[in-house]
Amino acid sequence: MSSNRIVLIGYRGTGKTTIGKRLAELLDLLFCDTDQEIKKTLGVSIPDLFAGYGEEAFREIEHDTIAAIPPNVSIVSTGGGAVLDPENREFLRRKSTIFWLMADPETIFERIEKSDRPALSSLPLHSEIEKMLCVRTPIYRSLADYTIKTDTKSIDACVREIAFLYASGGEVMKTREDWIFSHPLPASCNPDAMRNLITTIDNPRVRIFGILGYPCGHSRSPQVWNRLFSHFGMDNALYTWFEQKNPDLILHTAYAMGIKGLSVTIPHKETVIPFCDEIKHDARTIGAVNTILFSEGRSFGFNTDWLGIYRPLEGYTGGSACVIGAGGAASAAVYALMMRGYEVTILNRTEKKAEDLARRFGCSFGPLGDGDVSSYDLVLNATPVGMHPDTGIPVDPATLHQGMILFDLVYTPERTPFIIAGEKAGCIIIPGTEMFISQLAEQFTILTGLRVSTDQVREILA
Ligand code: NAP
Repeated sequence: MSSNRIVLIGYRGTGKTTIGKRLAELLDLLFCDTDQEIKKTLGVSIPDLFAGYGEEAFREIEHDTIAAIPPNVSIVSTGGGAVLDPENREFLRRKSTIFWLMADPETIFERIEKSDRPALSSLPLHSEIEKMLCVRTPIYRSLADYTIKTDTKSIDACVREIAFLYASGGEVMKTREDWIFSHPLPASCNPDAMRNLITTIDNPRVRIFGILGYPCGHSRSPQVWNRLFSHFGMDNALYTWFEQKNPDLILHTAYAMGIKGLSVTIPHKETVIPFCDEIKHDARTIGAVNTILFSEGRSFGFNTDWLGIYRPLEGYTGGSACVIGAGGAASAAVYALMMRGYEVTILNRTEKKAEDLARRFGCSFGPLGDGDVSSYDLVLNATPVGMHPDTGIPVDPATLHQGMILFDLVYTPERTPFIIAGEKAGCIIIPGTEMFISQLAEQFTILTGLRVSTDQVREILA
């Protein structure tokens, strides 16, 4: 059977050890608690290990313990901080269904206060819990397949819930009806169409990911994502195309279908904003969401487009930059360039749109005019000019010069007419594929909790 290991993650005091043991008894499976394993191997308790050797030594031993979990162990309970290590996350993810055990901070406080668990910092316990949850919650959320609240029900109820979810993908089954009927449907959603869509997913344990856009059938994202899932042993995950003119149908059935995450593309990056329960600050500033993570019955919106521009500019900082275009990609570009310390001017065919965008970011603007960009250190194309079958160049090529950084967001073809002109002029070239690769790598981490290098994505694309 695939994905047959159960992994329990979550902050300490959320019941991982107790629930793991009971689950192992109920399902008659072999159980490993990583903290207990460390204690058994070293012959010292975790508090003594912390006190004598410090947290760093503990984390190293924890890493080796997780790496060495034998394949016949079917239920694993981890220490609360184990997920901080990216390699631990990879080990734990492989062929596993991951459950995030949650409790509210007050319950965690009461449980820890009564135990002999070591302090993790010099902070008072309340502040320590708050601070650590702040760092760890996004990781638990990204890594987990399912969430179990352990503060509102008995241990036995939690055990039964996990066993049920594990055996049947029950969360999907359970929430299907609730979700459809407890959420007001937009007028555009036909309930019959929603039911049909939901019933096409025949294996409810599969966690679904996809690209939502119109059109998006040409996107190569599914090939890349599914190859990455294979690489990480995520055989309970599938990435597909959701080519929808109207995003409502997918957004409102996402939970019922078992969708864990979406990449959002043109023309929906702005329209999905009101749907998200929580939006990261950068996405709100840019005014576009290109990533949605579904967890705890809620939706979380992110923007990784700006990181797709920011990361390839590693090592470049300051100077003057002009962004050609004033749409969604330009907004992400302005944010990224300002984060790199550039003084940005937005040049657009329709000057009014450049002015509106410039006002939001407090930068300069102007008309595209005759396309003279000679005074800038960096020129970034955020228009579709040069995208196949178009063969245009967005600026006057005679004004490109030696040492100028030229970033073309267009990536079909890989060598656009703009890039070819820049090469001739001796510019430093950053092609649009670099943005695609970097934003995808960031998105993969947000939606799965796993770190992927741009080289891995580049290799798959090649
Ligand atoms: P958008 O919101 O439609 O904005 C397009 C902008 O381009 C507008 O400001 C528009 O000017 C301008 N424009 C369109 N045609 C033009 C022309 N012939 N001459 C001069 N300006 C023109 O599109 P977007 O979402 O920002 O995307 C822009 C480009 O970025 C797309 O072509 C896409 O390929 C690329 N992109 C790449 C990646 C990647 O991963 N590499 C990711 C996202 C986007 P007006 O205001 O005058 O209409």
